Amino acid sequence: MAPLRMKFVKSATDVDQLPYSKAEIAIVGRSNVGKSSLINALSNHKKLAMVSGTPGRTRLLNLFELLDGGTCMDLPGYGYAATSKSMRASWQKMIEQYLLERDNLEMIICLVDGAIGPTKLDVQMLDWLRANDLPHSVVATKRDKVKSSKWSRRRVDLAEGCQLEPNDIIWVSSSKGTGIDKMRSLINVWLGNK
Ligand code: GDP
Repeated sequence: MAPLRMKFVKSATDVDQLPYSKAEIAIVGRSNVGKSSLINALSNHKKLAMVSGTPGRTRLLNLFELLDGGTCMDLPGYGYAATSKSMRASWQKMIEQYLLERDNLEMIICLVDGAIGPTKLDVQMLDWLRANDLPHSVVATKRDKVKSSKWSRRRVDLAEGCQLEPNDIIWVSSSKGTGIDKMRSLINVWLGNK
């Protein structure tokens, strides 16, 4: 399947600064989960979302436009260890406000590190999304890092940690390209693109 053609639109600190979108998906996960690598793999563009982040942009709401229609929000990674409590609280507020107030938000893609399973913060995020009845899908990253001997157990454990069934989880590897085509077509479906 062809890469998603994506173009950076703008960075914002507040949902009110964002332009109208007919349909949007958002990608969220803790820092280092592989979010930038996934965006780059989906678009086949090495530096679209700078791997490990452009200084200054990693804490903002980064909006991308898909040339086939709709937009993709790259949300700041949560749980970055080096930040202060108050800074973490202000990011959380920014992310939560965005998720609650953004119009036409069709799907929230929650990334979980497939090599380590859901963290406490990932589970908190999933609980919060469920409590607020927001549409979301869990995507496990770094599939290639799980040894084949551990794979079937990990698949079950990760799903259980997310309170889901194994088949509910989409597994990807941005390095090897696993699951990337599937993600591209799901994104097109969520955005209502043909
Ligand atoms: P972000 O902070 O969520 O944007 O995460 P990055 O995309 O910067 O990735 C964090 C680290 O994980 C980097 O060292 C990546 O090279 C690595 N990484 C990301 N995706 C994969 C993957 O699919 N497989 C492997 N083996 N490493 C990955």
